[in-house]
Amino acid sequence: MKLILLDRDGVINQDRADYVKTPEELVLFPQALQALQLLEARGIKVGICTNQAGIEKGIYSEEDLSAIHQKMQKEVKKNGGGELKIEYCSSADDNHPMRKPNPGMLIKQMKNFALTSLKNVPYIGDDYKDIQVAKRAGAIPMLVGTGKGYKTKEKYAKELENIAFFPDLLTAVEYLLASGFYKDN
Ligand SMILES: [Mg+2]
Repeated sequence: MKLILLDRDGVINQDRADYVKTPEELVLFPQALQALQLLEARGIKVGICTNQAGIEKGIYSEEDLSAIHQKMQKEVKKNGGGELKIEYCSSADDNHPMRKPNPGMLIKQMKNFALTSLKNVPYIGDDYKDIQVAKRAGAIPMLVGTGKGYKTKEKYAKELENIAFFPDLLTAVEYLLASGFYKDN
């Protein structure tokens, strides 16, 4: 099983301070679409773990999110990418086990893909929470510069010293594929 886990906002699509609330507000990064196409071509499964507290806050609904994800999946497939297994957390409670940086969603993905460990699975995000959650779930944390990435890198410079950093998802995926990372697992 070859798997990569990804954060959504700021990694696959443009983040918005006021949340992505409608399909129209979902703007996918062209480089991310390319990255997803490369992953599909190499037979690597993709899981997404995304905090969506805007639902509990009443800013958008489960139905809105479903429409957003339908559009995302459609665009990804149109560009040669594959099926996305999406897990989201609608809770705004930082103590909720599924809300990042708590590891619930990553553990759920581990089970979705019938794995017993995430030790060979990269988890890529743009927020410090993504690095924390990857560590807590036993995945391999990687940071990208898109979204909040460069700000995160600057703010948490010391904590991120030993964390792999790439300008964007495409460069991260190209690195993983070129380095033979997926040959061994
Ligand atoms: Mg993000």
